[in-house]
Amino acid sequence: MSSCDTAIIGGGVVGLCTAYFLKTMAPAMNVAVIEREPGYEHCSTLRASGGCRVQFSCPENIEMSLFSIDFIRRFPQLMAIPGREAPIDWVEGGYLFIVPPEHVGMLEANHAEQRRLGCDADLLDRAGLAARFPSMRVDDLGAGVHTPRDGWCDPYQMLHGLRRKVAELGGRVLADEVVALDVAGTRVRSAQLRSGTRIEASHVVNAAGAWAADVGRMAAMPIPIAPLRRFEHYFTCGNPIERLPYVKDVQRMAFRSEGVGFSGGVVDSDEPRGYNFDVDHEYFERAVWPAVAHRFPAFEAAKCHRTWSGLYEQCELDGNPIIGNWPGTLDNFHVCAGFSGHGMMHAPADGRAIAERIIHGGDRAIDLSRLGYRRVVENRPYAERGIL
Ligand SMILES: Cc1cc2nc3c(=O)[nH]c(=O)nc-3n(C[C@H](O)[C@H](O)[C@H](O)COP(=O)(O)OP(=O)(O)OC[C@H]3O[C@@H](n4cnc5c(N)ncnc54)[C@H](O)[C@@H]3O)c2cc1C
Repeated sequence: MSSCDTAIIGGGVVGLCTAYFLKTMAPAMNVAVIEREPGYEHCSTLRASGGCRVQFSCPENIEMSLFSIDFIRRFPQLMAIPGREAPIDWVEGGYLFIVPPEHVGMLEANHAEQRRLGCDADLLDRAGLAARFPSMRVDDLGAGVHTPRDGWCDPYQMLHGLRRKVAELGGRVLADEVVALDVAGTRVRSAQLRSGTRIEASHVVNAAGAWAADVGRMAAMPIPIAPLRRFEHYFTCGNPIERLPYVKDVQRMAFRSEGVGFSGGVVDSDEPRGYNFDVDHEYFERAVWPAVAHRFPAFEAAKCHRTWSGLYEQCELDGNPIIGNWPGTLDNFHVCAGFSGHGMMHAPADGRAIAERIIHGGDRAIDLSRLGYRRVVENRPYAERGIL
């Protein structure tokens, strides 16, 4: 038997950001992160593309992005430890969302919301798109929004920089697996680990990503999050082309410049749910190449060099994260999962939010109540509008 103040299940970016903010806000707190894969073979963080954007419609997501992108920009200073720097390879390459004429109204509304919250975001009509992105086909587009201060980072460095900083702050990362949770009344009292240890905790955080529903079941908490396989590809263009921002469209094409090539893919929302890491080496030719070559004719000669798979922790209710406890039923069990493709970029804001709730009993910096578990209980989706 061992004990801690807060036990965090899952040592990906979400769990580690939660530990970081707990140890920063309450240095005396005894925090344990429990991660079953010391080499992170399957975790989503290390398979992510690294994109960070303010282009959302829900104000909560925009505000989380503003905080998190600033955090990621300052990551090298924030995460440095004695004798060791904490690079994160931030590239301020921008994001570009593009839509056909029938979706212009949606894009304009989202852009207005982003501007209201202080984002640097340019609404471009077809001529404006052609002028700023000369290699892009625009005849079937209605408009686009370019956010030049968005960008991407290296998820590997983010995860390991956080992990070293958490250890320096006195947080423990245990290489073990939570196999059961002991519930008494409205509280999770302890976590049973595969090693045989039982760890008591005043608060327990479910940061298990694509496995969050399995962890929820251990406490009889239904969580509508499912693993959704997604492919990421590294490819080259085959023709000269300018460096591109992270380009996204309504058909879920998403790719960006990476070194001398490009990284990205096309999300298949209909992919059967499951813990499937198999790689379909035909997918690039079948789905990605036609999409990128249609938009940028220079990609007619594109070549895929590498494909890997990873899991989105897909929130089946509405595609937004579930952040919070189940009030009155499981008061000290906090879920922080279901980001459905934006968990890396929002991890700093989520980690801070969970830390605020544990330490102060509620949200301080950003009101995330609409993203709480209550909407699951009441079956009240709160979804993003537009490009996902
Ligand atoms: C191909 C791809 C591209 C992506 N691109 C982006 C992007 O550009 N930008 C972005 O913001 N997001 C992106 N994402 C999404 C992002 O990767 C995830 O949202 C994010 O990494 C989730 O972090 P996490 O810490 O919740 O989960 P994870 O990183 O998966 O960590 C969860 C951890 O929990 C552990 N765990 C599970 N169950 C237990 C248990 N019972 N006991 C102990 N440990 C357990 C697992 O081993 C795992 O390491 C992408 C995802 C994929 C697959």
